[in-house]
Amino acid sequence: MLSKIVPGRQPKKSGKLLAEKKFINDNVGFIEILDVFGNDLTVVNAARVSFNKESEFEPIRDGYGDSAKVVGHRVSAKDQSLIEYLAQNNHVTPFFHPQLRFRIKMPIYITREWYRHTVGFARNEVSRRYVTFEPEFFVPSELRKRDINVKQGSSNEVHEHNSELLANIRKTNHKALELYNYLLERGVCPEQARGVLPQSMYTEFIETASLAAYARLVNLRLDSSAQKEIREYAGILSSMVEKIFPVSWRALVKYNEFFERKIG
Ligand SMILES: Cc1cc2nc3c(=O)[nH]c(=O)nc-3n(C[C@H](O)[C@H](O)[C@H](O)COP(=O)(O)OP(=O)(O)OC[C@H]3O[C@@H](n4cnc5c(N)ncnc54)[C@H](O)[C@@H]3O)c2cc1C
Repeated sequence: MLSKIVPGRQPKKSGKLLAEKKFINDNVGFIEILDVFGNDLTVVNAARVSFNKESEFEPIRDGYGDSAKVVGHRVSAKDQSLIEYLAQNNHVTPFFHPQLRFRIKMPIYITREWYRHTVGFARNEVSRRYVTFEPEFFVPSELRKRDINVKQGSSNEVHEHNSELLANIRKTNHKALELYNYLLERGVCPEQARGVLPQSMYTEFIETASLAAYARLVNLRLDSSAQKEIREYAGILSSMVEKIFPVSWRALVKYNEFFERKIG
């Protein structure tokens, strides 16, 4: 069940955010937000401490004069400009303070790429030394052909024998699973039996990182030269983060030297 997340010092009324779990195209892999620390003002106030100052959210009023009602809160125009300035001038440390925690289910061969992003990340993962529940495998719906450019991992062209080759992949996965179960039945320890499982097997991990760390990861992994599957994860994560840190995320995206594409 989805629980409610109330990020630290979130503006009243407008501040409550529903926890989100988004599935990847295959409906098995997912990204789920578990926890959030901070909001756009966290970035602002980390910067404003230099002058021993602090900002508040600005009330949004509906109506005029004394009868006007406060219907929400927002980052003031002055603070929005500060966030833009910080991002534009690579004053990155204020973006280290907000933190997000996710639970992510991902095929192992994509996880290997994801884990290359190290600075600012903490991770813990399900261990197949200990668990023996039935592994699941990522089988894409379409097998892409190789690209003529060796640096580009794949073309957009679907292989002409897609169905036949996918059937082969499923068969091999099934055989690997049978052998895995057989080894366990025969008393082989899980930490060695897992060696026969394919790289396409899903794993799950919990990851905590700063807004700056995620901006860096998303920036690199949304690039058209990155693998399609990791681009998908990066795009989904980006759209989730944007909802929570709208001003900071847009500024990070806008001024990131590599990050010229739209998020989401
Ligand atoms: C499209 C694409 C293709 C890739 N292909 C390959 C590949 O073929 N083979 C491969 O091995 N990797 C590959 N990578 C992974 C890549 O080399 C990086 O490991 C990954 O992108 C994470 O980079 P990062 O700078 O965010 O790393 P992080 O480890 O998160 O580091 C963040 C930043 O901290 C600083 N930093 C980190 N460690 C050090 C250090 N030891 N000394 C000084 N400064 C440091 C650097 O400024 C660094 O950029 C690929 C990545 C992408 C996006």
